[in-house]
Amino acid sequence: MHYVGVDLGATNVRAVVGDGDATILGSAKRPTPRGPTGIAVTEAVLGVVREACAEAGVDPATVAAAGVGSIGPLDLAAGVVENPANLPDAIDRIPLTGPLSELLDTDEVHLHNDTNAGVIGERFHADRNPDDMVYLTISSGVGAGVSVDGNVLAGWDGNAGEVGHMTLDPHGFMRCGCGSDGHWEAYCSGNNIPRYARELHAEDPVETSLPVDDPDFSAKDVFDAAGDDDFADHVVAQVAHWNAMGLANVIHAYAPLVVSVGGAVALNNPELVLDPVREQLSEMVFINLPEIKLTDLGDEVVVKGALASALTGGTGDRSRL
Ligand SMILES: [Zn+2]
Repeated sequence: MHYVGVDLGATNVRAVVGDGDATILGSAKRPTPRGPTGIAVTEAVLGVVREACAEAGVDPATVAAAGVGSIGPLDLAAGVVENPANLPDAIDRIPLTGPLSELLDTDEVHLHNDTNAGVIGERFHADRNPDDMVYLTISSGVGAGVSVDGNVLAGWDGNAGEVGHMTLDPHGFMRCGCGSDGHWEAYCSGNNIPRYARELHAEDPVETSLPVDDPDFSAKDVFDAAGDDDFADHVVAQVAHWNAMGLANVIHAYAPLVVSVGGAVALNNPELVLDPVREQLSEMVFINLPEIKLTDLGDEVVVKGALASALTGGTGDRSRL
């Protein structure tokens, strides 16, 4: 039996083909089309699936099941992405479940938002296959996939877990990309860390080696200067403070045993991002403190989660293999 996992991201679309043990036999990747319409993105998805199948020597029509981890927002009932926030406006609707079912000749196509595919992958590959865990991504945005009592929380339309839009700062110092003020992701995502640093510096223009006025000023500049520049240390500490507060809210809401963290900001700076958060959480969390770990799956967490979903009926529960 063969299974397919698909990761539809704003930058790349990738697919893997695996066997019944989740061993990857073929994979393919290409840039996500920027248009002209959503159909072009659907074609790219079908294209990488065909390529991955060819590499694995598998006829697509014999695939048993597929999982998809996708950018949102999703319309789960229709099996589509609807008006994706991170692609050009001309891309309004990306059909996924229907075309994949047709190509693979199976009704077993499980569609998830990317963080839910992430938690399914983390759960599937974790030592004890825990029922209660959270996958948190800190990358161009902040979001979570949550499994509680063995149920991966999707919400009626598939969009549960948008924790990056929780309000953390009632003063609303920073405006979020969604238009509201004070949201977690407005302070801590890779795109917003340099904006936040610039605003902090405008409030208190201390001496710094950081190129705060340079249009190319990036989160990487901030993390690279940490340890050598007092202002960079201050920004890193502020970001850690908001991350700890957001994570404390998530822990209190869902009582996970493990929180696995991924996304480029965390993967590139694990000590600077996670160590101070672990330290602060012990003071901030009132219930049992979960293990806070960096994902072992790197930037393949979504596509491996999508494959794990295909193998386990959309759950990541290894007892269903
Ligand atoms: Zn927001």
